[in-house]
Amino acid sequence: MNINAEGIVLRSVDYKESDKILTVLTRDRGNLTVKASGARRRGSRLASGTQLFCYSEMRLYEHGGRYSLDECDVRAQFYGLSRDLEKMAMASYLAQVLLTQPEDAPQSGDVLRLTLNSFYALEQGLYGQAAVKAAFELRYMALCGYAPDLWACARCGGNDPEGGYIDLRSGQMCCARCGRPAGGALFLDGQALRAARYILRCDLKRLFSFRLPLASQAALSAFCEGYLLEKTEQGYKTLDLYKSLFRREER
Ligand SMILES: [Zn+2]
Repeated sequence: MNINAEGIVLRSVDYKESDKILTVLTRDRGNLTVKASGARRRGSRLASGTQLFCYSEMRLYEHGGRYSLDECDVRAQFYGLSRDLEKMAMASYLAQVLLTQPEDAPQSGDVLRLTLNSFYALEQGLYGQAAVKAAFELRYMALCGYAPDLWACARCGGNDPEGGYIDLRSGQMCCARCGRPAGGALFLDGQALRAARYILRCDLKRLFSFRLPLASQAALSAFCEGYLLEKTEQGYKTLDLYKSLFRREER
């Protein structure tokens, strides 16, 4: 059966003499494993569309739950990511998060949109990398069904604009007036809290349109990363590598 699918290559592995095995994040079908026969052959019409992070309109052939790539019409290649080690390291981390998405995560085109917007923002360098990373992590968790409740204090029900303590495990907030809950929680000051709320609800097109002072960005970064690690219950080698090479969180 022939299928049209829009997707971005998150992983590309050489296979046999001239083939590639791809993992493609698609708009409607989540992550698909796709065989691209002959893609490494000189002059192959599949050559450019099977590069890492290439986004294209694909024509797939499905048989018995296996997919092979017949044709691809390239929409964006994100070359700028592979030319810059820091951008590449960040994109690799985002890809690893997407490759290990929870099995029960609802499939929606928004995950692909979030990914494309994040890669575009990274490539173009329009926003600080810390802002792109944090926004991706938090909005992705929300799309997976793990949105934290940052609108009301879990104790008094109030909406304190001065910030709050967020429990990473439960995703619940205690307002600054009620104070730090037992068991530890990360504090988001007022600006960081407003940015986190913005990331959860804004139009994906304007996801990175917030600016924070360094201390607030650092608090937001720590929260978004810690929350993703807590909810996905795993570590990411690509994140460790990114941090070991470029430990400059607040930019
Ligand atoms: Zn309270």
